[in-house]
Amino acid sequence: MGLIVHKYGGTSVGTVERIQSVARRVAKWKSAGHQVVVVVSAMSGETNRLIGLAKQIQAEPDARELDVIASTGEQVTIGLLAMALLQLGLKAKSYTGPQVRILTDDAFTKARILSIDESHMRADLDAGTVVVVAGFQGTDDAGNITTLGRGGSDTSAVALAAALKADECLIYTDVDGVYTTDPRVVPEARRLRTVTFEEMLEMASLGSKVLQIRSVEFAGKYKVPLRVLSSMTDPDIPLAEEAASGTLITFEEDQKMEQAIISGIAFNRDEAKITVTGVPDRPGIAYAILGPVSDANIDVDMIIQNTGAQGMTDFSFTVHRGEYQKALEVLNTQVKAHIKASDISGDNRVCKVSMVGVGMRTHAGIAAKMFRTLAEEGINIQMISTSEIKIAVVVDEKYMELAVRALHRAFELEQPN
Ligand code: ADP
Ligand code: ASP
Ligand code: MG
Repeated sequence: MGLIVHKYGGTSVGTVERIQSVARRVAKWKSAGHQVVVVVSAMSGETNRLIGLAKQIQAEPDARELDVIASTGEQVTIGLLAMALLQLGLKAKSYTGPQVRILTDDAFTKARILSIDESHMRADLDAGTVVVVAGFQGTDDAGNITTLGRGGSDTSAVALAAALKADECLIYTDVDGVYTTDPRVVPEARRLRTVTFEEMLEMASLGSKVLQIRSVEFAGKYKVPLRVLSSMTDPDIPLAEEAASGTLITFEEDQKMEQAIISGIAFNRDEAKITVTGVPDRPGIAYAILGPVSDANIDVDMIIQNTGAQGMTDFSFTVHRGEYQKALEVLNTQVKAHIKASDISGDNRVCKVSMVGVGMRTHAGIAAKMFRTLAEEGINIQMISTSEIKIAVVVDEKYMELAVRALHRAFELEQPN
């Protein structure tokens, strides 16, 4: 008998029937003797709809008010799920993030969780009640509603699991686990039975949206046992079968020796590249360019500076596509004249394709094989960045799917390892 946190994403609660199916699944876990906390997202499409409404009034919505609006989607689902559970004869209570005191900082639309008061939830659980909590939201210490960034319900669930010292956090979604790459892009993608936290962190940060990156960071930090599995199966399948399904996120030391070299391919279309040409090659130039960008709260990802010829050099970096125009404006108004750059140019039709695997540490030649595969497809690599367990390239976005499929094939990721 344990304490289990379930999380159901938008598609999993997308209709009344799906919510009733979630209730049956939760009832199965409850009747096996577990205490259950359920975190839910808004019904699919609802958060986009709410943000769309806000943008009809303000093209750049006020962040505090946007959170007031965007957080309401989850409030509907918690009420509906609690009712569906009551209908099945269970005890259930719904709570918004602020009601269970999910305390965050005040960075509206991308707040970070600081603490959770689990005492009320524990009292409910001890009384046999299923606790249903709205994902994606919290409150700052002044009582403002905050949200945790898109996909943030994953983080709510893992943070609750950490606070409650849950035995397991189960992320139910519309695929049956973490795959070698997005199965919607590569139908031959293979489900991984396990993936390490390190690999999952890289995959999430490089664009695999199956788990929000902060949820993986939390799980790693607090050692929360985390599993990704399907909400689309018959809710009445045997509990033991369900509990062993999907993908378990493991710590590396748990891994067996026959670890695959490459675990997965991630990709991200939300990229834009900016190049500052003809800048003097001298100390302080990176700071002169990126300081103002950082002051404007724009995150920079890959950075490349060429070796200078005749004392001049070019400097390129990538930013999130949504911040591309803002970054260009900062450079044109605050940087260009100051450092006497000859030009500032950009391309917001690029994407990033990355290969991830802890086996790269011990195997040479992965990068060369990746570059050869892309060359054979006629795909030009614009930027490269590597770490111990990943190689990422920036390419023209029109080649994204071709690149992912070619790499998946070349590294035989569809084959069981
Ligand atoms: P939820 O609404 O349940 O949070 P998301 O849409 O956020 O679901 O995440 C699940 C989706 O992530 C899948 O439908 C799939 O298209 C996508 N995805 C991207 N990369 C992967 C991957 N490596 N493995 C599995 N799913 C992936
Ligand atoms: N509803 C929020 C979103 O669409 C949070 C989530 O689903 O995780 O981003
Ligand atoms: Mg999600």
